[in-house]
Amino acid sequence: MQAILLSIGDELALGQTVDTNTAWVADRLTRLGIDTLAHQTVADDLDAIAAAFVWASERSDLIIASGGLGPTEDDMTRQALAQAMGVELVLDQPSLDFITDFFARRDKRMAPQNRVQAMHPAGSAMIPNAHGTAPGIHAQLNNTDVYLTPGVPREMKHMVGDTILPQLAAQPGRKAILITKINTFGLGESDTAELLGALMDRDRNPTVGTTVSGGVCSARIRAVAPSPDEAAAMLEDTAALVTERLGPLVYSRDDGTLAEATVECLKQRGQTVATAESCTGGLVGGMITDVAGSSSVYHGGWITYSNTMKAQQLEVPEELLEQHGAVSAPVAAAMADNARRLANADIAVSLTGIAGPGGGTDDKPVGTVYLGLSQHDAPTDVRLATLGYGGRAGIRRRAALCALQAIRLGCLDADLDSLTWLKQVPVTTPQNV
Ligand code: AMP
Ligand code: MG
Repeated sequence: MQAILLSIGDELALGQTVDTNTAWVADRLTRLGIDTLAHQTVADDLDAIAAAFVWASERSDLIIASGGLGPTEDDMTRQALAQAMGVELVLDQPSLDFITDFFARRDKRMAPQNRVQAMHPAGSAMIPNAHGTAPGIHAQLNNTDVYLTPGVPREMKHMVGDTILPQLAAQPGRKAILITKINTFGLGESDTAELLGALMDRDRNPTVGTTVSGGVCSARIRAVAPSPDEAAAMLEDTAALVTERLGPLVYSRDDGTLAEATVECLKQRGQTVATAESCTGGLVGGMITDVAGSSSVYHGGWITYSNTMKAQQLEVPEELLEQHGAVSAPVAAAMADNARRLANADIAVSLTGIAGPGGGTDDKPVGTVYLGLSQHDAPTDVRLATLGYGGRAGIRRRAALCALQAIRLGCLDADLDSLTWLKQVPVTTPQNV
């Protein structure tokens, strides 16, 4: 079965409102095993909307449209569908009673134009809307199921989730589909594909694919089976294989963030952490403290942007700053070691780098970031990350995520070598014990 999704409205066609409805619907359909062939956005234009319905009905078994069911002149989705079907709009008395009652219960006057919301193409069915005035519509056009829903995202989600998806799921012969995501940070997409090998064969079930966003590389697993139990068992088998192959850089399933995983790891191992940040200006501390309950593992941190602050607050020796510069391995090591000692934490991480767009040199181009990891029972580890793309915001964000992953790996007693983005830099650190 294939679907085409329509979003209707001038504000969407003109780019003033971003169409989030079709992305949401497509994702839900995918989980039901229904592939989406196309998304189309159409302005409030009767003939263009009618033509879009005809076009979509000739290419798909299912159309879900949102928007244009309001009471005003520019809302013409129902008229356009009637025109495409070659039928008249007719009144549905129960819907009119519902709308009348909707206003009465809120002690509001019902404008005469609201009556149009109880109209639907002859031969179609109404879909109740418990969250607004516009009912949805279910019709047939060229043997294609057509569903119209309101544009307001909250109303659309209720109607699709409560009525339309259950109707589609109940169709005979439908397979169970389950999807999960295994998230890694520090592996590129091609490294991931190499590690996954034959697990990524296109004709395998479950299928395994990769996606990358903001430095996070995820393996997406999709299992198709006759029953939900079988799909779940297949999904778990493949998830275990993927997790084993991708190793310690895997930090979560589905929506868990790297900061949440890092805090959880510290909690489980009874370890505490401190941060010493320069180029990220507190991002790492911010991400850690976004996680509820992080106070039990996070002692705190320093934002030492200037050399003076690095020297005064973190006791980084002036000679190191003069000799090597603030963006250097010895300074990163001193920041991490001293932060750990001053905060009396088990682990400390430091970041010092060049976020750009200015300030880069041939030796140290924009995106050069030194990361220090200091632990009470291991030599201080300094790594060089070269993060020179994605602009200032991208560099800072990826540097902060590198620091979280380094804390997590340190906490797990795993070495940082698996984080291939980071190159080891030898530093002798007399302070380290
Ligand atoms: P409508 O049902 O066309 O009157 O739309 C009502 C409101 O819902 C619009 O003003 C938009 O703000 C919002 N909306 C409509 N369609 C979408 C969409 N596809 N994605 C996100 N928001 C939408
Ligand atoms: Mg509209």
